Amino acid sequence: MRNKLIIGNWKMHGSVVENAALIEQLIQGVPSLDANTEIGVCPCAIHIPQISELLAGHDRIDIGAQNVNEHTSGAFTGEISAAMLREFPVKYVLLGHSERRTLFGETDEMIAAKFVAVANEQMTPVLCIGESLQQREQNKTESVLLSQLESVLKVTGKESFSKAVIAYEPIWAIGTGKTATPEQAQAVHQVLRHWLATHLGEVSQRMQILYGGSVKPDNAKTLFSQNDIDGGLIGGASLNAEAFLGICEAAQ
Ligand code: PEP
Repeated sequence: MRNKLIIGNWKMHGSVVENAALIEQLIQGVPSLDANTEIGVCPCAIHIPQISELLAGHDRIDIGAQNVNEHTSGAFTGEISAAMLREFPVKYVLLGHSERRTLFGETDEMIAAKFVAVANEQMTPVLCIGESLQQREQNKTESVLLSQLESVLKVTGKESFSKAVIAYEPIWAIGTGKTATPEQAQAVHQVLRHWLATHLGEVSQRMQILYGGSVKPDNAKTLFSQNDIDGGLIGGASLNAEAFLGICEAAQ
């Protein structure tokens, strides 16, 4: 039995004042949720120290980072290493989000290197994969997703890969208000679980596969009730405490 996991990706939103209000509301709402529902929030990197302080002593909400540099240190102006993230109580690191792939040119090779850097610092990679609308229409969904997984697995090796969280995020559903139907999402998650089982064996049954793409409180329950959907990666709705808590509630 896998726990449900709900991770909020705040993207480039928030401010010191807004974050304090949002975290306060989450802290108040979380105790009413089932203890088996795992929750994470990914603020902007500059806000991680603030969120770490706000969440000190509150072990129900974990912290994630939205990105990391693959190098350990050096002349990489503006970048943040995994070891730097690890100085704070960062549990998750999002990798390969479609915005990083498309807007910032991240390749599968870079994502694999970042994965290794995160795993070396004992944090949990949240590996995001997804197909574009065009790829879906050309029936390439499965080959695109499996090649995104394969390119990372061949670099990281099985043991490290099996400790990751996978997030299936169809690009056409991110921030668009369009959601994959529960059946569409489950069909993909089933393919992903099968691929994980083939390559990693028994441990695949314990790996969490999240769905992301316009998840809201009113569509979360049917998505999360699918056999192979173990929670969600939430963008827009994670900036509103009531909506985010509603989604967490739907996971129970
Ligand atoms: C995301 O960016 O990971 C995401 C799923 O965004 P949204 O929920 O806004 O579609």
